[in-house]
Amino acid sequence: MSLYAGVIVDLDLEQTDRVYTYRVPQGMEVAVGQRVRAPFGKRQVEGFVVELSDACAMDPARVRPLSAPLEDYPLLLPQMLELARWMSERYLCTLSAALRLMIPAQLRGGRVGVKQVRIAALAVDRQAAQAALAQRARFPRQVKVLQALMQGPLPVPVLEGDVPGAGAVLRALEKKGLVRVNSQESLRSPFKGPVTRASSDPKLTPQQQAAADQVARAMAQGGGSFLLMGVTGSGKTEVYIRLIRLALKAGKGAIVLVPEIALTPQMVDWFRARFGQGAAVLHSQLSPGERFDEWRRIRRGQARVVVGARSAVFAPVEDLGLIVVDEEHEHTYQSDKRPRYDAREVAQFRCRQEGAALVLGSATPSIATFMRTMPKVRPQNKLELLELTQRVFQRPLPQVEVVDMCRELERGNHSMFSAPLRDGLKQCLERGQQAMLLINRRGYSTFVSCRSCGYVEKCGNCDVSMTYHQAEGVLKCHYCGQTRRPPDKCPQCGSIFIKYFGAGTQRVEEAVKKLLPQARVARMDVDTTRGKDAHQRILSAFGRGETDVLIGTQMIAKGLDFPKVTLVGVVAADMTLNLPDYRAPERTFQLITQVAGRAGRAQYPGRVVIQTYEPQHYAVRLAARQDYRAFYQEEVKVRRRGLYPPFTLMARLLVTAKEAGQARSLAMVLEEALGRFLDQRPERRRLTVQMRALEAPIGRLRGESRWQVFIKLYAKAEAEEILEEMDRLCREQEEREARVELEVNPANMF
Ligand code: ADP
Ligand code: ZN
Ligand code: ZN
Repeated sequence: MSLYAGVIVDLDLEQTDRVYTYRVPQGMEVAVGQRVRAPFGKRQVEGFVVELSDACAMDPARVRPLSAPLEDYPLLLPQMLELARWMSERYLCTLSAALRLMIPAQLRGGRVGVKQVRIAALAVDRQAAQAALAQRARFPRQVKVLQALMQGPLPVPVLEGDVPGAGAVLRALEKKGLVRVNSQESLRSPFKGPVTRASSDPKLTPQQQAAADQVARAMAQGGGSFLLMGVTGSGKTEVYIRLIRLALKAGKGAIVLVPEIALTPQMVDWFRARFGQGAAVLHSQLSPGERFDEWRRIRRGQARVVVGARSAVFAPVEDLGLIVVDEEHEHTYQSDKRPRYDAREVAQFRCRQEGAALVLGSATPSIATFMRTMPKVRPQNKLELLELTQRVFQRPLPQVEVVDMCRELERGNHSMFSAPLRDGLKQCLERGQQAMLLINRRGYSTFVSCRSCGYVEKCGNCDVSMTYHQAEGVLKCHYCGQTRRPPDKCPQCGSIFIKYFGAGTQRVEEAVKKLLPQARVARMDVDTTRGKDAHQRILSAFGRGETDVLIGTQMIAKGLDFPKVTLVGVVAADMTLNLPDYRAPERTFQLITQVAGRAGRAQYPGRVVIQTYEPQHYAVRLAARQDYRAFYQEEVKVRRRGLYPPFTLMARLLVTAKEAGQARSLAMVLEEALGRFLDQRPERRRLTVQMRALEAPIGRLRGESRWQVFIKLYAKAEAEEILEEMDRLCREQEEREARVELEVNPANMF
């Protein structure tokens, strides 16, 4: 037995990873990974045991004893500790910040407990129970309870629902020795509502089978990393399910990550239908109790299949055989809070650790991911490409029409809908089929474009569109900070139809109702989806055919499968195309392809109408053809020319403070310090494309001033050293009024 334990204390303010030494008192048993309570100064704190030893470098008299273990088993698997160590290096965070991600938040500080439920069961065998039934015929309620329990044990609350006053009846039966009532831990299940899908696996198509076979071989031989690229409707989910079955058969567990559970209720249904209680669901919309219980079912090995959003990558699955990342291109896999981890990278680490297979799935892989399938990639980064090029049952991909909205305006159509979309909607409803309309308005960013010729105001330095800031009435570049007055007339064609773009879901709803007064319309956006099950309710109603037209933001583009949808309209493709972000073309391509994939998934063929002011843009053109490879080729050229990731790394030190002066002066200090660091190392200086301090694109947010030191580096291994220096600079600034945070390739740059 070890005498001393090294403990990482869970303190929110702790900036370092000091391991504190404690004595393990006689008779207490603790293991690495276990949570403990320990004295710390004058108070008691929680912590994780990270090492055990027989010796102690300190004066033993000064070492204080642990107070108590918090659970009787280690909450953390040993490999999770190793993962946390890797994360603290990779994402420049403390070990305790990484560890905190690995247990349910509610466990910290004991904010959620085990829920107890009383279970009643027969205390005698069937024959004796039969005899008792006859004897007690005078007491109808006792008969009812006994009959119910003869089918199997039941929770007391359930019995009380069936037999009024069952509590008293049970006490009477207990006295006679016929029944036993015990308290048991109740596991709150997040699964609700009836199961709608068939629960047997279909026969795989030859392409699905070939893909599954290849991963299966790797799983048997100690792991591998794959990209499963399948067109929409090609049945990627069935491939995942087959692989999970193989993992389970080999005694292993599996994790399936989805971008956002609320938006993929169908996925959860499928897994529930196929794996029953063997599957657990983890995501942020569960109640704290539900999440805690699901987590424990996984930790105990009762659920070996986990479906969840980003943080489910930390699920305590032992003997992991497989991790699937579905829709791997979604930005939700990158955490927007510290530690800023990427779930795909964490998944990769865990798979390597355990010799498991990693499968990234998408119809539209991110550029960086697809690049990893190229022949010259280093072995440790390499992804093997698996393709599903056909929809199941050889269903055709939908017909995609691109409509030039400038032409529509020329023809005198000032409305939001082009002639093809209007006709499509009418036809679709006449046939009793359903339509989806996508409109992608995002936050507070808008751009300026000409409705006559499609001209968009862009930054001369950065080649991204400028953003209109209503408060100041100016256009700003979100990369370099340049500002400009918005034009009154189009600089290209002189038209006065130049305006700030922005049609919200609400306006689209009004327009549909005006065009088709009899249509039943539902809207899905941040306004209509606030409640806990709001997403599910809107989608289920649409699924049951209670609404004809579903209008929504990006939310409706993801993996939904509604057989009666035959028309999909993208009301304004330009909104994503002109996001102030170098990934705008990629996002546009993904969005159009994904949303088009929602049409014509069953026996009726689908039609897709894309409205745009830039019909010639490669992202629009190639998405209409659903030609991923051609898009990839174009996009890689653009990225290489513009020096954007994955060819470069972009990072910024974001400074926030109450006073603009404080933020500004700290940004200047940081710029100078970073400049000095680079000047001393000419070989590092050469990696730097751009570096400067400036006001952040959104200069004030939530009452605070924001400045940034932006840096763009060639993506070489040595660039890491510069990031580490930036991180060090960040930590140095603790005592100031201003706060600094380092972001590397952030999902946005407001
Ligand atoms: P993707 O995610 O690739 O767009 P899905 O996994 O949603 O595709 O599958 C599309 C549809 O095809 C679903 O309704 C699914 O149940 C069905 N499907 C998939 N594979 C098969 C198969 N082998 N046999 C029959 N139906 C299948
Ligand atoms: Zn113009
Ligand atoms: Zn710029």
